[in-house]
Amino acid sequence: MKVANLSGRLALVAEGCAVDIEQASEGRFSSGGIYQRWGEFRKWAATLGQVDGTPFDPAELGPPSPAPRQVFGVGLNYHAHSAESGFAVPDSPLVFTKFPTCIEGPWTDLQLPAGTVDWEVELVAVIGAVARHVPAADAWQYVAGLTAGQDYSERTMQHAGPAAQFSLAKSFPGFGPTGPYLVTPDEFRDPDDLLIECTLNDELMQKARTSEMIFSIPQLIEYISAVCPLLPGDLLFSGTPEGVGMGRTPRRYLAAGDVVVSRIQGIGELRNMCLAPSR
Ligand code: ZN
Repeated sequence: MKVANLSGRLALVAEGCAVDIEQASEGRFSSGGIYQRWGEFRKWAATLGQVDGTPFDPAELGPPSPAPRQVFGVGLNYHAHSAESGFAVPDSPLVFTKFPTCIEGPWTDLQLPAGTVDWEVELVAVIGAVARHVPAADAWQYVAGLTAGQDYSERTMQHAGPAAQFSLAKSFPGFGPTGPYLVTPDEFRDPDDLLIECTLNDELMQKARTSEMIFSIPQLIEYISAVCPLLPGDLLFSGTPEGVGMGRTPRRYLAAGDVVVSRIQGIGELRNMCLAPSR
């Protein structure tokens, strides 16, 4: 099952057509509350059968989880990316936050702040049930679905000062585009092994498989949920593979007019046009 956010209303999507969930459920599932009642929603959606959807304009697509209460990010979660960043492979997940105001839909302009803005394509898990002390073996049951994300990062601020600080430098407006759809885990042959890639002006920058993660989505859920309960609608950005601008020689950062496309097998793509700093 695929869920989209179309102009702020959640919809089921199949073959380019959408069915408004609130209308189809006669008000039972409001767009704001679906992740809080995800199990019940899935059962209802399974009884829907064939419904005629209507075509939609992809420009209407918003973030599949529009108001996450928590957004987790994970640093250095692919071996080759750890190496290009000049760090040893971590022995436990390196967790930070992206503040939720940076979350956007998939096809958005990215207003560059001053500094050095880098790209990081990432697989993002959307949480579908309160997860506390969840063992990895059970963790997929707590995931509503997967979506694609970009963890845009302003490297100058990230590395300023005596210790790197990730959260603020990854939270400028527009730094967390997500989408185009939430895809439920059962839609994938193996949700732990998806092709993930990112192009900059059609030039391939990042290409990997999510099976190369050091800590898988279930392992991350086990680790984080032992500290913070994960809440319905929360986002977990699971780390980026190698090929970011900071890891290149010479280093490369985003400039006005650049187009970043981030793509994950079975989910779709994000497309972000970079705009010059406003001052
Ligand atoms: Zn990242």
